[in-house]
Amino acid sequence: MQDRHGHRISYLRVSITDRCNERCTYCMPQKLQEWLPREEILTYEETLRLTRIAADLGVSKIRITGGEPLTRRGVVDLVRQISQLSGLRDIGLSTNGTLLARETSPEVTMAAALRDAGVRSVNISLDTLDRHVYSQITGRDMHLQALSGIDSAIAAGFDQIKLNAVLMRGRNEDQLIPLIQFAAARNLILRFIEMMPVSTNEVLDENNFMSILEAKRVVESHFGGLIPEPGFRTNGPATYYKVPGRQQRIGFIGAMTNLHFCESCNKLRLTCDGKLRPCLGSYLEFDIMKPLRAGASDNELKQFFLDVVDRKPEQHDFRNNYKPNRKMVAIGG
Ligand code: SAM
Ligand code: SF4
Repeated sequence: MQDRHGHRISYLRVSITDRCNERCTYCMPQKLQEWLPREEILTYEETLRLTRIAADLGVSKIRITGGEPLTRRGVVDLVRQISQLSGLRDIGLSTNGTLLARETSPEVTMAAALRDAGVRSVNISLDTLDRHVYSQITGRDMHLQALSGIDSAIAAGFDQIKLNAVLMRGRNEDQLIPLIQFAAARNLILRFIEMMPVSTNEVLDENNFMSILEAKRVVESHFGGLIPEPGFRTNGPATYYKVPGRQQRIGFIGAMTNLHFCESCNKLRLTCDGKLRPCLGSYLEFDIMKPLRAGASDNELKQFFLDVVDRKPEQHDFRNNYKPNRKMVAIGG
């Protein structure tokens, strides 16, 4: 699939729930969350069918996300079924990590079960090594669970594990070096992410926004000049560098300040309530659940995908005083 701006679509991010066991300030409001009723959420059969259709259209990478995808029962079986679809090369998972160490059967962690079911790469959110700050950011005292989740992921032997840290001035700017040391000790890729206006508006303002350029400066003042790695890509929009004198890779995701951010975009998003979104930073979304539940044929659903791809914008709208129409947790980051 290719859009009118030359983006080749090979990557579908599939959100399977809007629910979460954390309350990250940049992702969802603190106040009581109304979850979507079950009947408005795609069943696993429906998700699987849409995933198969996307794979038939050339999507080769799927990422399961949410909300917190591991809060939904049966996720391991869903992954197993997705992994049997032809055409897919890679299944990834984005998680806050807090449930990865939980045992799904005696002595088998969630991480190991997911690995066995076919997940190849895992992105785990970790914004700080400070338990107190972690609780402030996520609204939950689950730092220890997140850390043991990371250990379980390492033990499970995924092909790739990345740690994602959202940059927040005044919250975790003193954590960049400790996070780099933490990732180095475990041989994990670490990425720093600029905060995007995808949650409630008051979260993102000049006082708490930290750009990737500033983060890079902080890192370079400690380690010396980072060495660009233009040839290294992981399917996403991060730019990667090597830390001088080490084999360690760190990435920077600058949706707000990198003007070339959208050029190589290869993504579509499927929300848990059956909307196809051609871009995270745009209001455009198209309800594929409606035709799906009205009995549309595979060919009709394929055409729906193609029409959505055709509407994919050239770039996101985040820099144009963008006000989100959904919370990040309900889109699927
Ligand atoms: N619950 C999982 C997790 O936390 O990784 C998966 C869903 S979460 C929405 C996916 C990613 O989006 C996480 O790395 C999270 O840090 C990031 N994210 C959420 N809100 C964001 C925001 N306002 N700006 C930038 N990244 C954000
Ligand atoms: Fe939950 Fe992930 Fe959003 Fe945090 S970033 S509230 S863990 S979905």
